Amino acid sequence: FHVHGAPLADPPTDRAGAVIVLSDMTRIHRLESLRRDFVANVSHELKTPVTSIQGFVEALLDGRPDDPEQTSRYLGIIAKHAERLNAIIDDLLSLSRLEEGAEKRAILFEDVKLRPALEAAVELAGVRAEQKRIRVELSCDDSIRAKINAPLLEQAIVNLVDNAVKYSDEGTTVWIEVQPQDKGVAIRVKDTGCGIPREHLARIFERFYVVDKSRSRKLGGTGLGLAIVKHIIGVHGGHIGVESIPGKGSTFTLHLPQ
Ligand code: ADP
Repeated sequence: FHVHGAPLADPPTDRAGAVIVLSDMTRIHRLESLRRDFVANVSHELKTPVTSIQGFVEALLDGRPDDPEQTSRYLGIIAKHAERLNAIIDDLLSLSRLEEGAEKRAILFEDVKLRPALEAAVELAGVRAEQKRIRVELSCDDSIRAKINAPLLEQAIVNLVDNAVKYSDEGTTVWIEVQPQDKGVAIRVKDTGCGIPREHLARIFERFYVVDKSRSRKLGGTGLGLAIVKHIIGVHGGHIGVESIPGKGSTFTLHLPQ
């Protein structure tokens, strides 16, 4: 608690008193500590690739310029780390734009047909899916509508489909199914991939949380994808759920209100 006191005097009556204000700082301290953790996480996540880039550049500068094989291997590694930096920064910018938009209430929502937005997302995620010969099947009645910001919802679906593709075997199928509900719609993204162990389920939506660090890195992950999805659904007034069986697959469900 913050305690703030001030004397009060009431000249005509000469009555005196005091005001004491007790402020509960729990929430503010919690937010400050979350922000500190976030800055520490961001710094750490950015520092790792930068340190690697620095190391390989120094090795190149010190090394034998007449070894083209080594030179090209090092340049390849540097390019990979630079790509990772780019991915992290893109995701961080998406998050901060979302936060700013939500704060200023500057995000526009329109009552539109869902299918075109989902088709656009399937197309965007399609290249990565094709590389693994994964089919993305969309089942959504033409008449289903929802109040959405289409580009944001597309980004959420792309992130979910990208994950489904990343964590599934070649030649499998990913399903996107839309069902009207009592008060809104449910959009499910289903895969038959590696699944997520139960003890991790509650934390996968946290920023930078990944189940298997080396696998996520190898697949080009930043640990921010699901945090962005959760945020996007949050600004739509909806929520996200996940069910997963290790070794069998995962289903992420977006619940959008009417
Ligand atoms: P990443 O960039 O590592 O994919 P995300 O925030 O998108 O980060 O996801 C967090 C973690 O949740 C991933 O590292 C992965 O372990 C797990 N995950 C997300 N989607 C799936 C999925 N469809 N199948 C299995 N694991 C998943």
